[in-house]
Amino acid sequence: MQKFEDIIGKDFLRTDPETCHSYAVDGMIPRAVLFPGQVEEVSEIVKIACREHLSVVPWGGGTQMGKGAVPSRLDLVIGTERLNRVIDIDAGNLTVTVQAGVRLFDLQEAVAGEENRCYIPVEAGGEESDESVCSLREHRGCFVPLDVPAGNRATIGGIIAANTSGPRRLLYGLPRDVVLGVRHVAPTGEIIGMGGKTVKNVAGYDLCKMMIGSLGTLGILCEMTLRLLPLPERSGTWICAFPGLQEAAAFVDAIFARPLVPCAVEILGGEACDDLALKWTGQGEKGCFSVAAAFEGAEEAVARMKAEIEGLASEAGSLEKMYLDDDEHRRFWSSYGSRAAGFSGDQDGMVTLKLNYPISRYRDVVAFLESGWVTDNAHLASYTHAGSGVTRIHLPGEDGTKENFEKIARWTGELLSQVCAVGGNLVVEHAGPELKKHLPVWGRPRDDMKMMQWIKKAMDPEGIFSPGRFIGGM
Ligand SMILES: Cc1cc2nc3c(=O)[nH]c(=O)nc-3n(C[C@H](O)[C@H](O)[C@H](O)COP(=O)(O)OP(=O)(O)OC[C@H]3O[C@@H](n4cnc5c(N)ncnc54)[C@H](O)[C@@H]3O)c2cc1C
Repeated sequence: MQKFEDIIGKDFLRTDPETCHSYAVDGMIPRAVLFPGQVEEVSEIVKIACREHLSVVPWGGGTQMGKGAVPSRLDLVIGTERLNRVIDIDAGNLTVTVQAGVRLFDLQEAVAGEENRCYIPVEAGGEESDESVCSLREHRGCFVPLDVPAGNRATIGGIIAANTSGPRRLLYGLPRDVVLGVRHVAPTGEIIGMGGKTVKNVAGYDLCKMMIGSLGTLGILCEMTLRLLPLPERSGTWICAFPGLQEAAAFVDAIFARPLVPCAVEILGGEACDDLALKWTGQGEKGCFSVAAAFEGAEEAVARMKAEIEGLASEAGSLEKMYLDDDEHRRFWSSYGSRAAGFSGDQDGMVTLKLNYPISRYRDVVAFLESGWVTDNAHLASYTHAGSGVTRIHLPGEDGTKENFEKIARWTGELLSQVCAVGGNLVVEHAGPELKKHLPVWGRPRDDMKMMQWIKKAMDPEGIFSPGRFIGGM
């Protein structure tokens, strides 16, 4: 350990049991936790780890360390919290370059004050002049279009490594659509830059994109260049209750059939309404289907979507509606995001499954979830990103008993066959380490598994980065 102390100093090398326990990965406790402050220090640490075959797992905000299979071994955790500088904000080019340990909320704050590029009101014929330079909209600022409710803890490196997304991926896309470039330390210790500041920045293989969602298996992301967008002027959400799935789906399809650009369209199934404390007075029997449709953007566009979507809800037979404006909208989606992702306090111990499937098959998937698939009156809540082909569900937690493990494994198996039958797959996003050993953590193996194994072998020949955590036990 002395070699590491020589690189980062003794204050940033922790081997005490308490610290090592708090950085355990799926119950596996590291021998040391290291906090490098420079990219070059990360490189030196990894070179030693590679030479001495020490396995390494990167750690950002630690909010998603449960994703992936249980590691096959763990020597070092490398924490990125000291890699916390915002390196360059270029509002003119709508880009920001930031170190991996910066938390999303801090970054959003940093760019919110940045004036975005001028916007010339249409009525000025697009010609710039003293009078018409960005009049009302000049001081709006920018934001990074990443939808992560845990932004007060989640780091940019963790978000990109976990390919984190929320309901607003519908409009803003995934981290893959936001990342323009990365600078990372490869498993050999080399510092490698991929992509860059320009939107079109790769000739050859798009290696930058390959790092997104790699979950710390291909090296440590140290710096990233991200796309910025002007902050929306207004935002709003309609939440509408429907007697059944058919009516809710008719409303959803009607929205997508219109030239509207909602930023999120979510179907809440099962106990999701109760979990979100959404109380509908007309709610007779157990539960109803709610749809939350959100929109953000220029004042006029938001006003038009507000009016049109309300009309579509009435046509589709909505029982009740509620409208959330600006701050209410932001508050709702922050709590919605946490709950949907399974990170609200009372969801500890729950099992979270993430299903993905062709967009058009959401009805089949939601109908199956509502078909009494889970027995024993188990608590089931589902959150469907309509328009993105993604549903997250939360199953009742594990009590550690063999019967319970078998029951959850049986339910997951049934759901996996169901979702594969419609051309999809599933991932276990949250489960205790013991239960995980009974579950298909990465769903059904994919055809490109061989190619992924070649890439992993080529980039991490010693297999020291996050061994055993990834698809196919890589
Ligand atoms: C309240 C709440 C709500 C959430 N909502 C969502 C949601 O809606 N959608 C969603 O997908 N997730 C959600 N999450 C999960 C989580 O916030 C995100 O996945 C987040 O992106 C993880 O960031 P992190 O810094 O905490 O990463 P960590 O948990 O520290 O790491 C995540 C993974 O990335 C790897 N990693 C971390 N940093 C690096 C790096 N620099 N280089 C390489 N690998 C690295 C780690 O080894 C680990 O495998 C939520 C979490 C909470 C607490």
